[in-house]
Amino acid sequence: MSSERGRLVVISGPTASGKSTLWRRLVELPRVCFSVSATTRAAREGEVDGRDYHFLSAAEFERRLAAGEFLEHAVVHGQRYGTLRAEVERALQDGNDLLLEIDVQGAEQVRRSGLPVVSVFVKPPSEQVLRQRLRGRGTETEEQMLRRLAIIDEEMKQAGDYDHVVVNDDFERMLAEVMGILGLEEAA
Ligand code: 5GP
Repeated sequence: MSSERGRLVVISGPTASGKSTLWRRLVELPRVCFSVSATTRAAREGEVDGRDYHFLSAAEFERRLAAGEFLEHAVVHGQRYGTLRAEVERALQDGNDLLLEIDVQGAEQVRRSGLPVVSVFVKPPSEQVLRQRLRGRGTETEEQMLRRLAIIDEEMKQAGDYDHVVVNDDFERMLAEVMGILGLEEAA
């Protein structure tokens, strides 16, 4: 894998796969930035506008979409999400790698953009572990969990479209693997 910088690094994976922990660690490396997405969903406790997401009204999202401001966009769990072109251009011009934590629909659009892209799909080690992690969060009813697991099943089918599939059996091992894939070991 080329370690030439100024790439879009797409990270996808089911909920509770550990993908957020992964990008939080990668973004600590020099010249690695995180792409702040736009969304119509409400901010959660502790989230900051402009840092976690650009929180937009549905009308504002629609206006920007019509103006061609999005590199990719998708509806996830009934809300709109998208990557702003301006966010991407800024990072690539500076020769930085830009991490995009986006869903499988968005990843497909980014792959077709013609920009330099490396895509990584993060898999949980097994459905059993995933169930335990979801239970561990303590925020799901049994019914919600079954619904989430069905969505996850669908998402897992897309893993083959990614350049790399990594399994989060041991987080530090997986982090090292991803850094190797991206040629970022020497940057650490
Ligand atoms: P959450 O609302 O929990 O932060 O994110 C829900 C889902 O939306 C996650 O699967 C995440 O990958 C996806 N997502 C976040 N930002 C974007 C984006 O800009 N584009 C797309 N396509 N998906 C996104």
